[in-house]
Amino acid sequence: MVALSIHADYRCGHSGRCCGTDWDVPVESSARAAIEAGQQERRLPLVEPFAAGFPPEGYAGVLRRERGACVFFDQASRLCAVHGQLGQGALPVTCRQFPRIARTGPRGVAITLSHYCPTAARLLLREDVPLAVVEQPEAFPPGSYEGLQADDWPPLLHPRMLMDEASYDAWEAHVVWRCATVSSLWSALATIRRDAEALCRWRPEDGVLMDAVLACRSRPVVQVGVPDGAWVHSRVRDAREAVPEAEPVEERLDLSAGLAAMVSFERAALRLVAAHGFASWCAYQARGIAAHVRSLETVAAVLLVEVARVKASSDSWGTEGFLAAVGATDFLLRHEASREALAAVWTRREVGAG
Ligand code: SF4
Repeated sequence: MVALSIHADYRCGHSGRCCGTDWDVPVESSARAAIEAGQQERRLPLVEPFAAGFPPEGYAGVLRRERGACVFFDQASRLCAVHGQLGQGALPVTCRQFPRIARTGPRGVAITLSHYCPTAARLLLREDVPLAVVEQPEAFPPGSYEGLQADDWPPLLHPRMLMDEASYDAWEAHVVWRCATVSSLWSALATIRRDAEALCRWRPEDGVLMDAVLACRSRPVVQVGVPDGAWVHSRVRDAREAVPEAEPVEERLDLSAGLAAMVSFERAALRLVAAHGFASWCAYQARGIAAHVRSLETVAAVLLVEVARVKASSDSWGTEGFLAAVGATDFLLRHEASREALAAVWTRREVGAG
């Protein structure tokens, strides 16, 4: 079990964000039976628990919502009646997992978080731990985690070459290390792109792939300035393409104001990028680490646009505004966009085939 140091002691802060968001929470047959039994025993409120209509394939229902919140969410206490009365084991898997995003493979489970959860988002700001990959994180004990089962094939280095699992894990650790050690978000992204391009030139006759990954550390940082609007909007468009019924991209936002506002939160932005680079599904679903790099650039671009949007809508700017932008970024990339569609877009952009 591995996670990022900044997530390693995550605890639910009962923000109610997950229970108060108007999205579908599918219910497995075991959770449906527990909820129905709980109502028969008068331990749960006697409300209609399930939405009308057919549930998704493989599920026994979808939790009903009233005014955008789950019918079992108590707005006053910010607590869940199912959790409180029946225990965590009675919850649908979606409720138990959020905001955890797991990837399971032959080398174990890697977990990152969705920062749409405000408690998780705040962890990006912490001062007490340096950013790193850690083993046996206390917040994530061994157990079953729902998520990508990456058991079949290791990721592709590029469309004509597979990586071995250990080298891919080292690549993710390298991305986290760059995010922890380069102070500029844009220089970190440019450096990671340069590192990936160098790695993609590797041939078996050059030696062991792991050595080539580790050698990336010795390359100097690529120093760049802030990106231009075309760079930013092209990456935001990647994300929007992966969202059914996406709104058009707002191209008139004042990105320079967003860039200025981001400066005091650059370290947190780098941590958000690292949290997408680590435990990533992209490398398994797309066709090469260039697409993985593109996914990180998309995170930064979407965050910048969300910062600019928050900045444009308010006279004051500070931590809460930044966290709102982080939440909006992960809502789009982690929950609204289809992972398969994102992987296809990033692959198309980087290697020309979806
Ligand atoms: S069942 Fe509980 S945890 Fe799940 S969405 Fe409803 S209130 Fe939230």
